Amino acid sequence: MLRWILQILGIGVTVFLLMPLIVVGLGGRLGEGTGGISFADRVEVPEKIEVWREAEGRTEEIDFEEYVACVVANEMPEDFHEEALKAQAVAARTYAMAKVQKYGSGGPDDHPEAPVCDTVHCQVYNTEDSKTAQKAADSTSGQLLYYNGELVSQPLFFSSSGGQTENSEDVFVSAVPYLISVASPYEEAATHRDEEKIFTVREVREKIKKAFPEEDFGTVNASTIKILSRTAGGRVDRMQIGDVTFKGTQVRSALGLSSALFTISFREGSGWNGQTEIIFTSSGSGHGVGMSQYGADGMGKEGYTYKEILKHYYSGTEIY
Ligand SMILES: [Zn+2]
Repeated sequence: MLRWILQILGIGVTVFLLMPLIVVGLGGRLGEGTGGISFADRVEVPEKIEVWREAEGRTEEIDFEEYVACVVANEMPEDFHEEALKAQAVAARTYAMAKVQKYGSGGPDDHPEAPVCDTVHCQVYNTEDSKTAQKAADSTSGQLLYYNGELVSQPLFFSSSGGQTENSEDVFVSAVPYLISVASPYEEAATHRDEEKIFTVREVREKIKKAFPEEDFGTVNASTIKILSRTAGGRVDRMQIGDVTFKGTQVRSALGLSSALFTISFREGSGWNGQTEIIFTSSGSGHGVGMSQYGADGMGKEGYTYKEILKHYYSGTEIY
């Protein structure tokens, strides 16, 4: 009897002690209770930023907001909705500021001379600007993205999602709380919808073999090419080719597909010399983690503000 009571008490105490953790966990997941930041925690953007100019092999000091405007002009079409351009400006500024915070006047191994470079390695920067990009930078001047009171360090973006973004851990190495899979419903204007790429079975085998020469594939034919599982965002997670299981992202890059959100179908005997063809039909363009640029454009056209766009794609974040 006593043991029974103690057991109940024990369980009760455990649940009681865990309760705050459970509540905080749920709050974080739902994007609530992440806490705002006090004004003292606000990160101030410096007036200038050091940018490594890859082609010239030197560092250039550029006005920070001018740099943001140029990145927006390079990373997003200028006819995109004003609110999407503003969201891009905040993301670009946050990315650069996080690098400045991390490296100070130094930089990563690829360019230890400066915290950011001007290529796709960081964010594409060249001096070409546009009026709309300048306006997007000016009207959001100094604003940055925060999660839990800390500056966001990975405000990732990509072209289009095909309808759903991805969890960070399903594409890259680790989970990031604000990079979780969300719907991206307003992408009607996006390119790369239902894009077909057709290969013969032999071509698939050769391309995969070239990308992974050390793997022993066994027999590769129509019955050993299969999609095994999908991610939360609907992209191919695991795929069998011959005797080997690959990640969807590996197949995507080996075959040059625009996205890992693809289906496969077979057409028997339609290829050269009666070979079976495989049709890869993909939707979206890019890695799928963070903000969809076409999705942001669509949300802008639907009447959403840049803050709403950012909070949608970067879950639980705040803009100050
Ligand atoms: Zn770089």
